[in-house]
Amino acid sequence: MAVLDLRFLGDDVLYAVAAPVTGFDPALAQLANDMLDTMYAAPGRGLAAPQVGVSQRIFVTDVTWKEAKPTPLVFVNPQITAQSDETKVGPEGCLSIPDRSFDVSRPVWIDMKWQGLNGTENSARFDGMQAICACHELDHLNGVLITQSGLET
Ligand SMILES: [Zn+2]
Repeated sequence: MAVLDLRFLGDDVLYAVAAPVTGFDPALAQLANDMLDTMYAAPGRGLAAPQVGVSQRIFVTDVTWKEAKPTPLVFVNPQITAQSDETKVGPEGCLSIPDRSFDVSRPVWIDMKWQGLNGTENSARFDGMQAICACHELDHLNGVLITQSGLET
């Protein structure tokens, strides 16, 4: 178990477009495990690599662990391939922006494709909290924070 140091609002790494992951090796698996440890310790439901100072396209989520059984997911090189026209505004926080809340508009559902830690291609349709969380974390990989995409409440 390794809890990594979080990066906070104002840190350059949070505003950079992260680079695609190309090495599907033990170091990537270690990074994913450390990111999950860091997310649970924070405590949060999602964490993107730039938030621990790594400008690579990987994020982790677990949208159920606070209320029920954990469902950890690791997304490498994620992309949205389709999304609902309908959007919904809801409150979001961010581990890099402690103690602040922003109303952010998100699609109601998204189709996402991504790679697993061994490079395997995955795809799924997400809605609810999983869709919101995946959109939030994907924004991090593109250097976008909820201070830019949302309105503080
Ligand atoms: Zn965030």
